[in-house]
Order: sequence, then C-alpha cells, then structure tokens
Amino acid sequence: MNNKVLVVEDSLTFRNYLQQLLSQAGYHVLCAENIVEAKGVLAKEREFLCCVIDYCLPDGPDGEAIELALAYQHRVIVLTALFNPDLRERMLARGVVDYLLKDSTASVAYLLPLVQRLEKNQQHKCLVVDDSATVRNYIVQLLEHQYITAVQAENGEQALTILETDPSITFVITDHDMPEKDGVSMIRQVRLTRDKKHLAILGLSGSEDATLTAQFLKAGANDFLNKPFHPEEFYCRVHQILDMKEATDELYRMANQDALTGLWNRRYLFNQSCGGCQERNIAMLDIDHFKQVNDTYGHDGGDSALVTVAKILQLYFPHDLVARFGGEEFCIQSCHPFEQFAEQLEKLRSRVENTTIYHDQVEFKLTISIGVATAQPTLDQQIKLADDRLYRAKENGRNIVITQ
Ligand code: GH3
Ligand code: MG
Ligand code: MG
Repeated sequence: MNNKVLVVEDSLTFRNYLQQLLSQAGYHVLCAENIVEAKGVLAKEREFLCCVIDYCLPDGPDGEAIELALAYQHRVIVLTALFNPDLRERMLARGVVDYLLKDSTASVAYLLPLVQRLEKNQQHKCLVVDDSATVRNYIVQLLEHQYITAVQAENGEQALTILETDPSITFVITDHDMPEKDGVSMIRQVRLTRDKKHLAILGLSGSEDATLTAQFLKAGANDFLNKPFHPEEFYCRVHQILDMKEATDELYRMANQDALTGLWNRRYLFNQSCGGCQERNIAMLDIDHFKQVNDTYGHDGGDSALVTVAKILQLYFPHDLVARFGGEEFCIQSCHPFEQFAEQLEKLRSRVENTTIYHDQVEFKLTISIGVATAQPTLDQQIKLADDRLYRAKENGRNIVITQ
C-alpha cells in the first residue's frame, strides 16, 4: 500500500511539525517549501497517498500549488491560515479532499486521522444502491475520490444478489424509493444474515416522509442522510460509519483472538456453530512438560514455544478451526473425514517433535500429546472425551496421538 505523503509548506517550523507528525505515524513524508520545489518532487514521484498543501506560498499566493497537485490527479488536503466561506466552497468544488485551518492545534490535530482514514479507505468496498444512474455515479465518484472502491445496484433486489455473491463488500449506501424492492425492505432482509459488525449501511432519501429516518434506522441502517446533501456532510457520515465499523471489528478481534498466538480463543470456539455439520472431529493438544520449558528458558522462552507451536498448527490445519484453549492447551475442530484428520494429527505430532525452537540464542525441542474424539451430542461432551484421551496419552508416556 502506498504510504507517501507530500507536504508543501513555506514555514519551516510548521513543515517540520507536519513531517514529524506524519513520519511518527509511519508515513513516508516528502517536503517542499515552495512551488518550484513541489514541481520537482511531483515530476519525479508519481504515487502519493495524498498531498498536504499550504494555500498561500511565496511563489504562488492563490492556491497555485493546489492546482498543480490536482493536475497530477492527487488527493489534496489544503492548509489555510484564513477561513473564508467563499474559498472553502471554491476549494471543495475543485475536488480537494478537505481543508484545515492552521490557526489552532485543534484543527491541525484533525490532519492525521484524515490521512489515516484515506489510507484505510482502500480496504473498503461500497455497494451504491439507487434507481437513478446520475445519483449512483455521483456517489461513486465521491467515494472513489477518497479511495473507496464502489459497485452499483439499481434496486434492492439487485443489491441482495450482489451482496450474496460478493463478500468483500464492507458497506452499503442505499436510496429508499426504488422499483422491485425499496431500501428499507432490502436492509431488513440483509440484517437477517449480516449484522452491523459485518456490514455498515447508510440510508439515503429525498422523500418528504418525515418518518423515513426512523424507518431506516429501525430496519438496521447505521445512519441516514437526506438528499440533496453537501459532499462535506456526506464524507463526515461515511468516515464516521467506517470508523465505527473498524472499531467494532477490532473489539470483536480482541474478544475472540488470543493475543500471544493470534489463534481463536476458547470463547470463540464455544460461540461458533461449525456450520452444523455431522462430521465434526475434535482434537485436544497439550505441550508435554511445559512447566520445565518455563523453568529452564524463562517465561519468554515458554511464550516463544507457544507461538511456534501455534504457527505449526495453522500450517497443518489451514481449513480447520484452531484455538488456544488455555495455557499450553490447544483445540482443533475439523470437519474432514476422521481417518484423514487422525493422519494429519500424527504428521503434526512428528513435525513438532522435530522442530527446533529458537529463543534468545538458545535452541530447544519439545513434544505434544493429543486426544481425539468424533462427533458427540454436544461440543462440551466431545471436548471432554478428547480431553480424557489426551490424559491417557500423558499416562502412556506422552508424545502420542490417542484416537479411541
Ligand atoms: P504435562 O506434560 O503433564 O502437560 O506437564 P506440563 O508441565 O506441560 O503441565 P503443567 O500443567 O504442570 O504446566 C503448564 C505450565 O504452562 C504452567 C504454566 O505456568 C504454563 N503456562 C500457561 N500459560 C502460559 C503462557 O501464556 N506462557 C508461558 N510461558 N507459560 C504458560
Ligand atoms: Mg429513488
Ligand atoms: Mg502440558
């Protein structure tokens, strides 16, 4: 992903401040102090995430540097010392991403979240649903201007089909009054299978009906916007929706993933339904004499071992659910035929036995014991049975797989 940002600013103090702010956040910052320098940089470097440009420069006092960057099709954020509604309208109409006032630290503090938003927008794909091609094209253009990929649907029915076939869509912007299926009914149907965490929805309508906002929100839209809208408000709503969606995704990840190994945790294991298949197999795995690993190589050495084992588990069972059950215990849920699963577990056991773990310039090895169980009436019972077999594996000398 492109992370280059061009800063064009004549004040040395402010330029340094922006450079530091953006570099610390991981951006590759190129600076220019006037138009002549900016021309040089723009002629050489073609790819920028965005350009942050001072409106008034010594060799271009009236936004000339902005025009220059826009001519290269770059996304431009304008910095200006004076606020003037006329200038603001003119700049937005020219197609700059946003403008920031240089008068206070508070408004400049908005720069970093904005640049980060542009960067993260590239992970999103929006489905724009409206029966008017003009409206659709306008919205798509606004979205693409901020790096959000967009696809289109003419009505609610078409939207449902597209959503079903394209799981990479992260949010939907939809009109209400449309032939075939209206926006509110479409949202109701979408929400049966995809909650706000999986798909953000912005409702849109030019209708006079004052109850429409409530209808949209009750059907499951995250937010609502009246047509016609000012692009600035449109962007604010879209940014807010995406910020919220990303925060919820992150929260979900934190609640369901193990922080050390990145595997699913026990909570996730018990909350998933395994697609309701009849063939579910469960393996419980435990590292042998792990206490000794900690005692000999320290807690950090133990952690390295856990990370290494977790990686091997993912490598050997890429299509199955691999979870850290707790401490040095792992669980694999697989819906592949039992024989195949047991064979793969034996390969895994052998691979772990033959793997060298490197930590702090020392090397060591370890083994795992495994208990396996085929489908039982409940997941709890199945885990208990696999755990009993794991216990027998320990009693029988460790480093073995017990399947019955
Ligand atoms: P056995 O072969 O019977 O399984 O013996 P063991 O030593 O592996 O089992 P025991 O249950 O006695 O010890 C497990 C140890 O795992 C104790 C605990 O401190 C350690 N442990 C649990 N979670 C972590 C962790 O996140 N990091 C590290 N380094 N150690 C952990
Ligand atoms: Mg319509
Ligand atoms: Mg153990």
